[in-house]
Amino acid sequence: MTDSPSDNYAFDTRAVRAGQRRGLECEHSDPIYATSSYVFANAADAAAKFSEEEPGNIYSRFTNPTVAAFEGRLASLEGGRYAVAAASGMAAILSVCLAQLKAGDHVVVSNSLFGSTISLFSKLLSKFDIRASYVALPNLDEWDRACTARTKMLFLETPSNPLMTLVDLEAVAQIAEKHSSILVVDNVFCTPALQQPLRRGAHVVVHSATKYLDGQGRCIGGAAVTNDESIAKAVFGVLRTAGTTMSPFNAWVFHKGLETLKLRMRAHCESAMTLAEWLRRHPAVTRVHYPGLADHPQHELAVRQQADFGGVVSFEVAGARAQAWAVVDATRLLSITANLGDAKTTITHPATTTHGRISQEERLRAGIGESLLRVAVGLEDVNDIIADLNHGLALIAKTAA
Ligand SMILES: *Cc1c(COP(=O)(O)O)cnc(C)c1O
Repeated sequence: MTDSPSDNYAFDTRAVRAGQRRGLECEHSDPIYATSSYVFANAADAAAKFSEEEPGNIYSRFTNPTVAAFEGRLASLEGGRYAVAAASGMAAILSVCLAQLKAGDHVVVSNSLFGSTISLFSKLLSKFDIRASYVALPNLDEWDRACTARTKMLFLETPSNPLMTLVDLEAVAQIAEKHSSILVVDNVFCTPALQQPLRRGAHVVVHSATKYLDGQGRCIGGAAVTNDESIAKAVFGVLRTAGTTMSPFNAWVFHKGLETLKLRMRAHCESAMTLAEWLRRHPAVTRVHYPGLADHPQHELAVRQQADFGGVVSFEVAGARAQAWAVVDATRLLSITANLGDAKTTITHPATTTHGRISQEERLRAGIGESLLRVAVGLEDVNDIIADLNHGLALIAKTAA
């Protein structure tokens, strides 16, 4: 757990400078502290650190300087005082849940969440008598009505995968306050470069650092960020005991990744916008889901709440599964994988991959049809991405004509 000193530098400056701890060698770039434990000056020093009378490293399951550097930088960018890094995005979410919830508690969660997050609530935490109610992300009434006297946490992602649906963060934060609950926001899709939920009333932000924070698809990691000292201490306590710790090497990759986060996000967003506009004009495309388009039902909220519209574009092709699969199979450049937040553009068919394990009925309720495709736009030249998608789309347009 790292307490980030608030400073007055702008976001871009903090992305490069915050969290750095220069060592004895006066290195310019941050070192990797690949060590499992730390030595003490003498027996009294060891005793003082073990009893927490004095701060200091003891063992890397608890703290590590490279992990602390990443935590300090991410906390600064999210506008939070404390960050706790974890082994993965799921480890971060689990640690927050174990820290904040106990048997008999109730949570209200968006029904459009990352698949493993849904499984965590519905299959794992339910075993310990923590019950979840699922609500439609943008429907504020549903959030309010689902809360009970036992509700301790509201959990959401905005924009959500794959349809890029948003919710008004300030409004949900108010609902959480009204019910004496905390609001936890998964900020993977926007990253702090586009949206800082703590500044809109969220109590905790969770991340899968695996996605845009790394940005080049190398490492698995996650983090929780908060301004609440007691939440931070509780999450750190879980991590320290349960071992959901981030490795120093991964922390170093993410720490360096944050230096280019905003530049990369700007490029992802710019290309996604260009792609969305091109798709909307294509005769083989029936619908495009991207909050940057003026006809997206929540375009105004996106303008108000986000600095830009994100790197993920979903669209529906004329036809059904066969046509959608044909577009996937005709690509030569795009990677056929469900990952996102990579320099390389990826394409996936949600109904048979990321959302393949939920029932047809749940899928249709979530608006995920057989003709839907999701593209996580990378950093290639957008004209090459467009040309690659056109291989399949042009075939569909020709067959239909
Ligand atoms: C990937 C992802 C997660 C889980 O993160 P891992 O690092 O894979 O454990 C959680 N939420 C969202 C939105 C994700 O995309």
